Amino acid sequence: MNIVTDDSREPLYDRAVRLIQSQSQPLDTIVPVDDFAVYYLLASEIARMALGDTIEPLTLFLDAHTAVQVDAVDSTRVEARDVFVFGDLPETWTDAHNVTSIPWTSAPDKHDLFLVALSPTFSIALVCAHGNSSFRGGWTGDRAHVIRIADELQALGGSSRTAGTIETHTPFELSPERQDRTLICATHLMVLMTRQLTLRQRDIAADKDDLHSVLDILKAVSAKRRAHDILYVFVEQIARAVKMDRCSVVRVWGDDGIGHVLASHEDETICDLPIDLTRYPEIRRTLDTRQKVIINDTRHDPLMRSCVGDIAQAGVNSLIVIPVLMFDPNVGSFLLRAARTRNPFSLREISFCEIVAEAAANALERAHLFEGIQKANERLELLAITDGLTGLYNHRYFRQRLDDEFERARRYSLPLSCLIIDIDSFKKVNDTFGHLQGDKVLHGIAASTLPLVRKSDIVARYGGEEFVVIMPQTAMDGAYVEAERIRKTISETQYDGMPANHPVTVSIGVSVYDPGAMMDCEALIRVADSALYRAKREGKNRVFVGNQEGVVS
Ligand code: GH3
Ligand code: MG
Ligand code: MG
Repeated sequence: MNIVTDDSREPLYDRAVRLIQSQSQPLDTIVPVDDFAVYYLLASEIARMALGDTIEPLTLFLDAHTAVQVDAVDSTRVEARDVFVFGDLPETWTDAHNVTSIPWTSAPDKHDLFLVALSPTFSIALVCAHGNSSFRGGWTGDRAHVIRIADELQALGGSSRTAGTIETHTPFELSPERQDRTLICATHLMVLMTRQLTLRQRDIAADKDDLHSVLDILKAVSAKRRAHDILYVFVEQIARAVKMDRCSVVRVWGDDGIGHVLASHEDETICDLPIDLTRYPEIRRTLDTRQKVIINDTRHDPLMRSCVGDIAQAGVNSLIVIPVLMFDPNVGSFLLRAARTRNPFSLREISFCEIVAEAAANALERAHLFEGIQKANERLELLAITDGLTGLYNHRYFRQRLDDEFERARRYSLPLSCLIIDIDSFKKVNDTFGHLQGDKVLHGIAASTLPLVRKSDIVARYGGEEFVVIMPQTAMDGAYVEAERIRKTISETQYDGMPANHPVTVSIGVSVYDPGAMMDCEALIRVADSALYRAKREGKNRVFVGNQEGVVS
């Protein structure tokens, strides 16, 4: 019986299937094998079982690739009666007297993988074909089929050495107990395949879970804009997905030996907790090598020797540190550190953390950029409304706030007061002590006024040596008391660089919003101005309250 066809390059597997299907019942066919991993598993098992009986004559046909992969054949091949290897023999096999090398050109197809074992009591053929994108194969324990496949190989080999080998086996009539060896092997192969299938299903389920977790984390992370929120979501979700006892992100920049915990899943409020890196050798190792560090037994790992006590106290058994690689090197090094009190980290968990760390780095980079721009904008905005000499709000901001507060007071009938403060005889300060000293006094007065007002009051430099205070929701009595307090404090303060016999004083004009008479905020300023004028006229260093009629009290 020979199954060689016109197309002698047809893969052996396809020929075997065709042969079996033409001869058998539709269901009696080859048991499918659909990838390399299963193929190697089965080939090793068949070789092990075939070579188990050292007394029996055995013929093995296999390709060189399989010969290298299947260890059992290598170690015990001398026990086998005849081994035919298609392709180049592994080096260690060349001097074995019972191994015959058959050139590749005689192999059915160079993509064929096969292991055929035939003895009086044993017959299994495992045949696979792998093209560029597909892998298909199968095995059979049916003695008639195995003999036909072996026959085919023998014919392809064309070697005189193989002639007669198969004939020797063909006539064997197997007794029931002799048939058992094939049966046991076939059953065993089925069990292996089922187990493999279960494992694979479990892997697929785990991969699916991981994918869902990664997606959840990314969704949660991308909903956040602030860097700290991103980091917290990141550590919190990782801790949940991988069941960590501790999970934090540490940032290190500069070489002062200090790390900064930017987020920790245990405490949402942590955003910059300094840590001494001498107590974290695993972090230092990651910084040095830029590689992840995995410690699965902290008590016995040499790296942790210097801090065994700390670690034991924290109850940490396993640790990983994964670098979070950022595109911008100026932001420093970010590391994910996770610890567990119980079992070690699996490779799956580690690669999960790595995937998430990479995704988080992206989100973080965007957030960092965003926050940088936002901070720069805030700084610019602050600069635009701040007076450079005194640090108070400037005139522009004062006008804007006065408009707003006036409108609010008008609409809701709320009290509103305004003070204008003018330094008395300031020209003389400049003339006597110089402009620089004058600047110092201006700065000093601003500094001593600020703590005297309420949080809701707005203090600004009106211009020159004049200041204003807007006092929302403050009626006349309150405004007067506050003005008097300011006047008194300033007059009693010894300003830096000023002699004790030259006290600095101010005059203050107070105006109070009068809903019936004041149409706009200009009126409020005018009234304060005239009250101030009156204070000057009455001898300075005093407070006057004005009203719409210009009458001051
Ligand atoms: P009065 O008690 O009537 O207010 O007298 P005065 O000398 O304070 O008033 P005047 O308006 O005559 O002079 C204000 C002076 O304040 C004139 C100006 O040189 C000085 N001045 C205004 N802005 C600054 C500043 O930014 N720095 C310094 N050193 N002096 C300033
Ligand atoms: Mg003035
Ligand atoms: Mg003045």
